[in-house]
Amino acid sequence: MTEVPEEPCQCPDCLRFYKEHDRFIRECPTLRQQQELNWASLQAFRTLCGRVLEDLQKQHGTKSNKKVSELTSNAGSDHQVDLINQAISDLENINAHLFSIEALMERVFEVKLPDEIESKFKEFAGELAPDPLNLDRIRLNRLLHQTPDLPDRS
Ligand SMILES: [Zn+2]
Repeated sequence: MTEVPEEPCQCPDCLRFYKEHDRFIRECPTLRQQQELNWASLQAFRTLCGRVLEDLQKQHGTKSNKKVSELTSNAGSDHQVDLINQAISDLENINAHLFSIEALMERVFEVKLPDEIESKFKEFAGELAPDPLNLDRIRLNRLLHQTPDLPDRS
């Protein structure tokens, strides 16, 4: 094995994750901005899931009533009914969990830091996630792309 254990995984999913991770640090480099970003992201998640769940429940009924099979019996097979019931139950679980996460997050969002500490956040953000177009980053990317066992993504 010629694997280098310290090298982070370079599969497309991980690469996309690193990129997003760095972008969030770069674009929201203070505690305040991280709080806003995560709050907005959580609310967007809840709004969208909630809306789809509401629509599914309206069309197919909730788990607890029997409208599901009645309403869909002429439109689809038992298999489709199962899929829809599973989706409704998954979305209900997601919503319940997001609701708990929101309660926990409120604690995190109550914190306010003085400007001196917020500047420290910005300082580290620059180190952790430098501008992808800056020279050092471009040089590092070239080095990575020249590694023989990595696909050339240029
Ligand atoms: Zn990976």
